[in-house]
Amino acid sequence: MLDLGLSEEHETLRKTVESFARSVVAPRAEEMDRTEEFPYDIVAGMAQMGLFGLPFPEEYGGMGGDYFALCLAIEELARVDSSVAITLEAGVSLGAMPVYRFGTEAQKVHWLPSLTSGEALGAFGLTEPGGGSDAGATRTRAELRDGEWVVNGTKAFITNSGTDITTLVTTTAVTGMRPDGKKEISAILVPVPCPGFSAGKKYSKVGWHASDTRELAFTDVRVPEANLLGERGRGFSNFLAILDEGRIAIAALAVGLAQACVDESVKFAKEREAFGRPIAAYQAISFKIADMEMRTHVARMAYYSAAAKMLAGQRFTKEAAIAKLFASEAAVTNAREATQVHGGYGFINEYPVARHWRDSKILEIGEGTSEIQRLLIVRELGLSAPT
Ligand SMILES: Cc1cc2nc3c(=O)[nH]c(=O)nc-3n(C[C@H](O)[C@H](O)[C@H](O)COP(=O)(O)OP(=O)(O)OC[C@H]3O[C@@H](n4cnc5c(N)ncnc54)[C@H](O)[C@@H]3O)c2cc1C
Repeated sequence: MLDLGLSEEHETLRKTVESFARSVVAPRAEEMDRTEEFPYDIVAGMAQMGLFGLPFPEEYGGMGGDYFALCLAIEELARVDSSVAITLEAGVSLGAMPVYRFGTEAQKVHWLPSLTSGEALGAFGLTEPGGGSDAGATRTRAELRDGEWVVNGTKAFITNSGTDITTLVTTTAVTGMRPDGKKEISAILVPVPCPGFSAGKKYSKVGWHASDTRELAFTDVRVPEANLLGERGRGFSNFLAILDEGRIAIAALAVGLAQACVDESVKFAKEREAFGRPIAAYQAISFKIADMEMRTHVARMAYYSAAAKMLAGQRFTKEAAIAKLFASEAAVTNAREATQVHGGYGFINEYPVARHWRDSKILEIGEGTSEIQRLLIVRELGLSAPT
């Protein structure tokens, strides 16, 4: 039988996070957006609930859940605040997951308990000022000298990289040349802070104001040879595998934002009157909201089905790309339409839809732009990648 409902465990988790999001996060969302301050107390609350450990086994301090549980939590948080949701998404799927997927037992035992408990945050340093989509254009270098990796280079737009609780930046670096003349790219665990490492000022961003995103510089940063994560030369492909999973989580975040736009629009359209009637009575408005609900529903089913394939151990690259592409575009469209439903109030920052509008655009860019998702789908269909 096809069952698209949530299991009792998943539903209980969803409700718990929903209640936390509404009672703890929502009352602070406008202030966090305005002050752009990283919400350490909310992150501590999420840590206490075990959210940072959701998809990891108990032996590493996790909750023994699965990746779908993480996605449900991210969706519920994004329904009220995208900055908090991306802090969880990046902390788990980009910070801790590479260590869990590719680390040695010693690396897991060393790093995971603090990351899965949420006491500490890890970051994922792939993008560089000169290349995001073309991640193979990595210029950061790591040379092996006297039993240590010496790392030099710059990374751009790295989430969770400069908070007071950031302890790890996993970074890709060129470690040599392959026999075919291409760059050998490896992943190195850099414990931070450390000599030679500096996290720049937080970017001034269009949205995700309370999330921590910085440029990073590595100048003769020395770490032990044992800090190589995964096989030498597999750093790039391992990071791409991490991004496959991450796209399902970003799709969940987009669904949360898209749903928030529906929720706010339904409420506003019933209350706001024009020409003596609630604006919901006008088909131009109610049909807009119907379309928003349709997009949200389809996007949710897309990420549920990508997660189901992933959990079943099947290949899910295409489904994850479809979910991320559809959900992020749905979120951007819903945010624009919700702003329209709100009229002038939609352009005023105190109204959640104005924040959702600003927060939505990055969903079509981060963890692979919409163009890159289309490229992935094209490749999965066996067509040669267009230029
Ligand atoms: C707030 C924020 C948080 C982020 N967090 C992280 C993080 O934690 N870790 C990390 O490593 N990165 C992070 N990123 C980086 C993000 O993943 C990149 O910005 C993204 O992958 C795009 O790379 P780029 O900005 O260099 O754009 P570019 O790659 O320069 O792309 C510019 C445009 O060209 C298009 N394009 C590029 N190549 C092609 C092609 N072959 N075919 C068609 N179109 C193409 C793109 O789709 C885009 O429209 C973050 C970015 C932001 C803004």
